[in-house]
Amino acid sequence: MQYIEPAPITDKENPLESMMSRFDAAVKILGISDEMYYILKVPAKQVIVGLPVTLDNGKVEVFEGYRVIHSTILGPGKGGIRFDPHVTLDEVRALAAWMTWKCAVVDIPYGGAKGGIACNPRQMSAGEIERLMRAYTLAMIDIFGQDKDIPAPDMGTGPREMAWLMDEYARAKGMTTQAVVTGKPLVLGGSLGRTEATGRGVMVSALAAMDKLKLNPYRSTAAVQGFGNVGSHAANLLTEKGVKIHGISDISGAYYNSNGIDIQKAMAYRDANGGTLEGFKEAELIGGEELLTLPVDLLVPAAMEDVITKSNASKIQAKLIVEGANGPTSAKADDIINEKGIMVVPDILANAGGVTVSYFEWVQNRIGYKWTLDRINRRCDRSMKDAFSNVFEISQKHNVSLRLAAYILAIDKVATTYKFRGGYG
Ligand code: NAD
Repeated sequence: MQYIEPAPITDKENPLESMMSRFDAAVKILGISDEMYYILKVPAKQVIVGLPVTLDNGKVEVFEGYRVIHSTILGPGKGGIRFDPHVTLDEVRALAAWMTWKCAVVDIPYGGAKGGIACNPRQMSAGEIERLMRAYTLAMIDIFGQDKDIPAPDMGTGPREMAWLMDEYARAKGMTTQAVVTGKPLVLGGSLGRTEATGRGVMVSALAAMDKLKLNPYRSTAAVQGFGNVGSHAANLLTEKGVKIHGISDISGAYYNSNGIDIQKAMAYRDANGGTLEGFKEAELIGGEELLTLPVDLLVPAAMEDVITKSNASKIQAKLIVEGANGPTSAKADDIINEKGIMVVPDILANAGGVTVSYFEWVQNRIGYKWTLDRINRRCDRSMKDAFSNVFEISQKHNVSLRLAAYILAIDKVATTYKFRGGYG
């Protein structure tokens, strides 16, 4: 089989390269053939578009946009659209593959995809962003589709952008298709529970792991890095289950209180304070790095990638790490963490509650019906618990970490499905 490798990702601690090294390790354990390796690795479709957009000053700027569908073996492509100045095709490729594995781990009938536009939404007006989003949608009109490829928000985009996407798609096709995109505002067919879904999944998988470690939530403590959508909801829901949150952090710093932090109070403070915890007086200000190494039972990195590295992994005191963020642990830190006997619930399992409720949004749109919050939460919890026990079982069977087990489960599922579907040759 002939295949030309894309340019390598050079940063050795790059999270995307970290993901590929875990993919390779899982493939080795599964004993997958070279042919299947490339079938699973090479994206099914990669689209690059130039998007001329008139800015508010009357000048036209051409933005580059990408959409990569890594796999449609399990179902239509699924994945967010990232607006960020540093977006590259390589990054989008790897994030698309990540989505394939994540959807397979939680057993939802989607392949993996990702989109991105190299732009700085923080320096653009709402009108400029809207024109860019509409231009991107039109350029991808034959790529997107409720049975082909279903976008969603990612960094730099949210419900507002998804509403524009849905509207532009409806104009071009001459009919409204709500299920073409998820993460929409509630009034346009968004789902109840989507906002909290990722944090909720983090809580459910943390409790499942604590049960295996015989940690009683009412006698356990935690530190949570990142106090945005994922981190704050995870902290809040963990508190409801009895866990005492000793440390939280965001871009403004880290905050520690040995008696436990009142998370509802911290969320209200953040919301009234322009979105950050700056000046939060209910806890002592500590260093961001210190938060990761606090003497707590549970650590939830829920801010960004590559924060647990080979230089700080040996100092981590938590018995359990539940990855709310994508790629918070570099591959080089894996060995140190495994040697220390710390259990890690990996990102492709722990933060899959979000894509699970996105799937529920798509299902509701297709049946033209709205489920109650209670039904959504129950179904999401069940799906997260099942995924955790499947991954745990594989980790016992192969005597590997939960991370490797999650990759084994996902890769095996996609490879087996491919064999049933068949191809050329
Ligand atoms: P967000 O923008 O709502 O929140 C990010 C938080 O991290 C903010 O509180 C920010 O201040 C904080 N932060 C930024 N830099 C930091 C630093 N250096 N130290 C400590 N805190 C810092 O984002 P989010 O939606 O909560 O996403 C967080 C992570 O979870 C990302 O890796 C994202 O890819 C991943 N994720 C999110 C979802 C979702 O549904 N939102 C789903 C799956 C994965």
